[in-house]
Amino acid sequence: MSGGTILTALDEGELEELLSPLPSFRARQIFSWIYRNAASFDEMTDLPLSLRNELKTRFVLYGGLVRERLAGRDGVVKLLMEFSGGARAEAVLLRDGKDRFTACLSVQAGCPVGCVFCKTGSIGFLRNLEAHEITEQFLHLSREAPAPIENIVVMGMGEPLLNLAPLRKALALVTSGKGLSLRRVTVSTSGIPGGILDMAENGPKTRLAFSLTTAREDLRRLLMPGAGKFPLSEIKAALAVYQEKTGRRLTLETVLLGGINTGAPDAAALREFAEGLFVVVNVIPWNPVEGLCFEGTPLREPSPSEVEGFIRCLENGGLNVTRRYRKGRGVLGACGQLGTR
Ligand code: SAH
Ligand code: SF4
Repeated sequence: MSGGTILTALDEGELEELLSPLPSFRARQIFSWIYRNAASFDEMTDLPLSLRNELKTRFVLYGGLVRERLAGRDGVVKLLMEFSGGARAEAVLLRDGKDRFTACLSVQAGCPVGCVFCKTGSIGFLRNLEAHEITEQFLHLSREAPAPIENIVVMGMGEPLLNLAPLRKALALVTSGKGLSLRRVTVSTSGIPGGILDMAENGPKTRLAFSLTTAREDLRRLLMPGAGKFPLSEIKAALAVYQEKTGRRLTLETVLLGGINTGAPDAAALREFAEGLFVVVNVIPWNPVEGLCFEGTPLREPSPSEVEGFIRCLENGGLNVTRRYRKGRGVLGACGQLGTR
């Protein structure tokens, strides 16, 4: 984390400008090395030694460090990254049954939304991550993956739509550097209408997941203090615009909290919210986080019958439902379990 321009922050054009008067193919070579996961300038073996040495004195490749690495038995790897000023964020590599890899990225150190069920929310908010700090998470995870990472989910720490410009740049860098399509990227938001409209207008046109949690508005306001202040009608209108612009199916995520949002009224309200939208509902049984309470009572996992009953209510109403797998629990890298101070 020494001085000097951080190269992971730059696209090919910006690198070219920085390196001028060097010929542009040098910028292309360096950009391509970064996205082939070079860990240092020394690995850039098709650059002359004198140039590598000069680069070392003038620039830094990465701005952040991997502070900790945790590998789970289910193929999950969680990296704790540290960035300037001691800001920490976690990135998780997920592997599915077909050995395909997904990177789960963070956009903020902590989160200002403060959802009562989420570990990240419980630690408060430190700062937004910069574009290169998001890009670097992907690059370090790539090094962990035995095969190219095929998907990105922006579902780590923080609220993506409260840090949209850096996220936009990071996704542009990663998708161009790795030749990955934005269709392979899912951004999950607690529902910031202005941010959704901004994405609809200016991109990135990724898949979009909305963390509804419950469509009972009063309850939602209590569970998600920083997000519940936006009326659901306004969020729905923004989602409809996004859907119209992208033509893509939306995901409604609902984390099931035992005894709190698993009842028939929650299912009915959710069905009503989904009316007129093209959606799949992703039901996520709450992953335990020690010490989290709602109205003085510790949160608990939903029982199997609560989960099944809820899903049945949704399906009977004609909704498509998927159930989130629980990968990552062993390394506390599952949804809502991220949050090392
Ligand atoms: N801040 C964004 C993205 C990160 S959270 C958002 O809230 O959408 C990703 C998903 O994990 C959200 O749908 C959130 O509701 C869910 N989640 C949070 N804490 C959880 C927990 N302890 N168990 C299961 N899911 C959780
Ligand atoms: Fe922030 Fe998402 Fe956690 Fe809510 S669920 S506190 S929005 S990271």
